[in-house]
Amino acid sequence: MAITQQEIEAGLRELGLKEGDIVLLHSSLSSLGEVERGAEAVVDAFLSVLGASGTLVAPTTSRALGVIPETLKQRPAACHSIHPRASVAALGAAAEEICRDHWKAELAHGPDTPYVRIAERGGYVCLMGVDQDRNTTLHTAEELLRLPYLKPTVEHTFDTPEGRVTKSWPFFPGPHRNFIGLDRLFRGSGRMRIGHIGNAVVRLIRSSDLIEIAKAAGEKDPAFALCDNPNCGDCVRQRADIRRHRFSQASFTVAASACLAGRTVDEIVEQCGVAGVDAVELDDLGGKPVSVLGADVVLRAVERLRGEGRRVTALRAPAVGQKAEALFRLAREANVPRVVLPLSGRASEHAALAGEAGVAASFFNVGLDSPGASDLLLRLRSEGSSAGFTFHAAHFARAGEMPFLGSYKQKLRRFVDQLDVEDALYDGTPQPLGHGNAEVKEMISILSASGFSGCMVLGQGNRLTGTLLDAVRRFEHLLDTM
Ligand SMILES: [Zn+2]
Repeated sequence: MAITQQEIEAGLRELGLKEGDIVLLHSSLSSLGEVERGAEAVVDAFLSVLGASGTLVAPTTSRALGVIPETLKQRPAACHSIHPRASVAALGAAAEEICRDHWKAELAHGPDTPYVRIAERGGYVCLMGVDQDRNTTLHTAEELLRLPYLKPTVEHTFDTPEGRVTKSWPFFPGPHRNFIGLDRLFRGSGRMRIGHIGNAVVRLIRSSDLIEIAKAAGEKDPAFALCDNPNCGDCVRQRADIRRHRFSQASFTVAASACLAGRTVDEIVEQCGVAGVDAVELDDLGGKPVSVLGADVVLRAVERLRGEGRRVTALRAPAVGQKAEALFRLAREANVPRVVLPLSGRASEHAALAGEAGVAASFFNVGLDSPGASDLLLRLRSEGSSAGFTFHAAHFARAGEMPFLGSYKQKLRRFVDQLDVEDALYDGTPQPLGHGNAEVKEMISILSASGFSGCMVLGQGNRLTGTLLDAVRRFEHLLDTM
């Protein structure tokens, strides 16, 4: 049997709506079941409950435009907010002030837009037979937080009472988000009322509560509105944007071993994009160390990486043999500022070659304990070299030392200009970051606490425990739990 306007009114009153209230309505007519007089009856029911002093608002963007907002929009007394991406229609006492100059506001859903004005006036958001996915006011929370994954809109040209305007909006919400998953936040807060009208589930919450709850969640976790489906390309990309932003705020540079990121330049670009890491330490290409590749291959790769927005922090060689001089010349030719190579008895010779080529050298420990490394580095200093030290914590663990409490604190802290972020057990078995004996969390913590301006490189040893994305997530988890 069809439901009537009176029954809808009774349902709205039962939810707590009364004369004078302002409601932003997201709705699906069909969800109610059969309605006598259809959308007209729904609109009339709201207007009757809200009375002459109340206001009914509905979004009228093409995505939101169902038959109920269309009906509201067509009413002769309706006001329309002018906005190419976030418009609403409103009817009632506050309609004009809610709609006024929407297009002039800096953000599409921020201050001086209908969404914030409704919240400021104590208004409600009502979801009638639709879920949180349709809740436009959630964009307000995202925009107020200026979340790093939000992008500017394209430029829109449109008519206003003040003439033709061309404008774009910054921090505009993009593709997929998991708004549905946020419903439990509002339910859990006790501030959302849930009722039934006809067949429809109807949710009602004060807009200011909604924004406050969503903002608090976003302050805690900027990915709060994103889904965690690893195959959702949208949310994978948006999470990368959040990470890229976070890393850009750090005193140090986060870089990925090219070898960990992929075999080809295309793969490296793609995987760094997914991980949100913009800097690359070029160690291997196609399974071969850069020190044995032709100069033209390396130059082309550096050029391509740069073209794709990836900075190359260093060329790195696992061993250099007789090729050290060529490697330094190659770095200079490619405009790569540093070469990372093993610390050995030939370090002085290598440091001198680096100086001649005009690039910086940084030596990493392999097969050395910390007294041995410290002796070699002190000798370099006494020779006037400013070469840096790449602290390979996992290698010190393999040498049987406690990398942070022993190697770093006692001997090596003054030389470090790079941390190789890898983990391993004392017996040498590679481990996911934070699961081994390399004290990587302690190393990351002490360096970031002291304003370290060098590189933290997600090293190729991580390949044995997962992908670059796995490593960067664990790295982030370590940062989160400090
Ligand atoms: Zn998603």
